[in-house]
Amino acid sequence: MDIKKLVKPNVRALKAYRAEEIRCKVKLDANESPYGFRVLKNVRTSKYPDPEAKELRRLFAKSLKVRTENVLHGNGSDELIYNIITTFGGPVLYPTPTFTMYGIISQALGEKHAGLSLDDSFDLDMDGMNRQVQRVKPKLIFLSSPNNPTGNSLSSDRMLKVIKKTKGIVVVDEAYQQFSRKKSFVPLLKKYKNLIVLRTLSKVGLAGIRTGFMVAHKEIVDEVNKVRLPFNVNALSQKVAIDALKKNRQLISHINSIISERKRLFKTMANMDRVLPFPSDANFILFYVKNADKIYRGLLKRGVLVRNLRDIAGGCLRVTVGTPAENNTFIKNLRQLL
Ligand code: PMP
Repeated sequence: MDIKKLVKPNVRALKAYRAEEIRCKVKLDANESPYGFRVLKNVRTSKYPDPEAKELRRLFAKSLKVRTENVLHGNGSDELIYNIITTFGGPVLYPTPTFTMYGIISQALGEKHAGLSLDDSFDLDMDGMNRQVQRVKPKLIFLSSPNNPTGNSLSSDRMLKVIKKTKGIVVVDEAYQQFSRKKSFVPLLKKYKNLIVLRTLSKVGLAGIRTGFMVAHKEIVDEVNKVRLPFNVNALSQKVAIDALKKNRQLISHINSIISERKRLFKTMANMDRVLPFPSDANFILFYVKNADKIYRGLLKRGVLVRNLRDIAGGCLRVTVGTPAENNTFIKNLRQLL
């Protein structure tokens, strides 16, 4: 597959911005102030951050057993979605309901975009997908797995069929992968050149530092890198993310707590009358509840904020798995409102 042919001509003609890093004793080349604040040990706020986030990418790449050159950093993974659509352009295709930014960013960039409904089990409707691939001829297909807001993983064999069938790029958004039993698509990057995998640190305790990654063939990384703003992940975020990645055990233990709370929450909700939770591989649970709007408002009045999916999954609410105490508060109030 010739990736360059898929890249928009204006991006193809671009050269990536290079902020050269030259070692020196006195750095006076970039209009930075000599006076800074030591907010965190070893972070110099007076200087621009490493534009290529080398250490951060190296550590993240190591955690996935890929090479650093296959990883690109983003100010959250939604910035990478923006950069990917900027690089390749539309048409952009995605199953619905899903993460709304695929459509919003396509629209903002003036690119054609189309959604197609997931089937009754929230899985890919392959007939519909085949038809849309032929009709729309997408340059980009976004597959969120586990999917937000439904919570389930899409079946891997169906996703694989899409990757094989399309003449465009397939972006597998694994924002919630660490909460899932399903295997990551990262190892398949070796085999399929038209695959991009998205990851984020936002769901594992670091949403505040806005750090995400895409993993792909070097050729794709190099093209998307051209539209990335030079210092997109700031120095504080890089430092905090590096420290967090070094504390992998702590990260894993947090993920495991969420998974076990998710099981408890699901079981409790499944036993409630008038509540239908959908099985989840993510750190949230989608549930159908009678009078969803009223329940949503009732919960909020009692201080519990969940997500009302009125616009994209009518009659459903989405609750994020919190600490055991937070989950108990949610359950108690939901029970009372029912
Ligand atoms: N992808 C999916 C499927 C998401 O649900 C989210 C966040 N809600 C993102 C990407 C964006 O995550 P972030 O920008 O925080 O990395």
